Amino acid sequence: MKIGIIGAGQLGRMLALAGYPLGQRFVFLDHSGDAPGGQVGDIIIGEFSDPKKIAELASQVDILTFDVENVPEDAVRPVLDTVSFFPPVNALATAQDRLTEKSLFHELDIPTLDFATVDSLDDLQRETGNIGFPCVLKTRRLGYDGKGQRILKSENDIEPAWVALGSTPLILETFISFDCETSIIGVRSAKDGETAFYPLCRNVHEDGILSYSIAPFERPKLQKNAVAHLTRLMEYFDYAGVLTIEFFVQGEELIANEFAPRVHNSGHWTIEGAVTSQFENHIRAILGLPLGDTSPTGHSAMVNYLGHLPELESVLGIVGAHFHDYGKEPRPKRKLGHCTVTLDDEKSRNRALNLLLATSQRN
Ligand code: AMP
Repeated sequence: MKIGIIGAGQLGRMLALAGYPLGQRFVFLDHSGDAPGGQVGDIIIGEFSDPKKIAELASQVDILTFDVENVPEDAVRPVLDTVSFFPPVNALATAQDRLTEKSLFHELDIPTLDFATVDSLDDLQRETGNIGFPCVLKTRRLGYDGKGQRILKSENDIEPAWVALGSTPLILETFISFDCETSIIGVRSAKDGETAFYPLCRNVHEDGILSYSIAPFERPKLQKNAVAHLTRLMEYFDYAGVLTIEFFVQGEELIANEFAPRVHNSGHWTIEGAVTSQFENHIRAILGLPLGDTSPTGHSAMVNYLGHLPELESVLGIVGAHFHDYGKEPRPKRKLGHCTVTLDDEKSRNRALNLLLATSQRN
């Protein structure tokens, strides 16, 4: 089969790298010919919002998927009659707007933070009164990795936050002091709805960007509830492919922050740390092939490299380190690569995590 991927970022590259041993071939659509996917497949150069470019990609492949979330539904709809498109476009569209996303969580009884829409300064003043301080103002669309967000601690923060973000539709939500953050990654097959779930991982963010993940995060009650929530979301969309929900954890409660209808940064550890990676399972799922075993093979830590990469010598000197360089130009806070260790016990894993974190700091 030839698989088209809208977006040729590191996720697309890792999808292709997982798909080649299964005999699949790949072609990408991206606005940059230098995107990471270009190292492992041809890139059609064009915008994700250009229906003509999406049609061009669709005409070359048997099946279409995506590695970015900002693909407009309208640009994809015209090709849906001619090519299989997974995950479903409804999941893509719902995840693009924090309002539709959180409203769906409500409908499916998946707990979320209190939220309200904000379209004017009056709305913001009223809703900060209802939700209370501290709270977080976020753009409804195109916000990711902490972009398009302001924390409001008091009434003094209302006007500056409105000036910074008020030109687009917004959502206001409670600021939660969580115990930690976690995510569940699952996969559902296009053929018969077979599902498989990875163990939870614990995620640590800095300035809204994932810094590192450790897995498995062994909390049986949280795992059970996370699987139940993700299953409801998968069934709602008649989903195919990998689907992720990110949660805040408070005690034994999971509070959903957002879902991603794609492979996820918090699942990179599965490449070396699970029997089958999230990337291979996404490919298997969209092709309707039997899903692979999602069991962890040890205790893993995955550290992101943001804005700079370490010297290869320093990182490869850490026993068990698996380094991934995405081949991207350095820019502040840009995800340039990651490294995973998978070890037999938690103590060794935590020691290796500290060594890896040291390599992620700029000297
Ligand atoms: P998001 O862009 O919604 O994925 O947020 C990125 C990160 O910002 C989250 O993973 C949290 O670490 C933090 N964050 C987002 N929303 C909230 C909130 N309402 N309360 C506390 N922290 C938040």
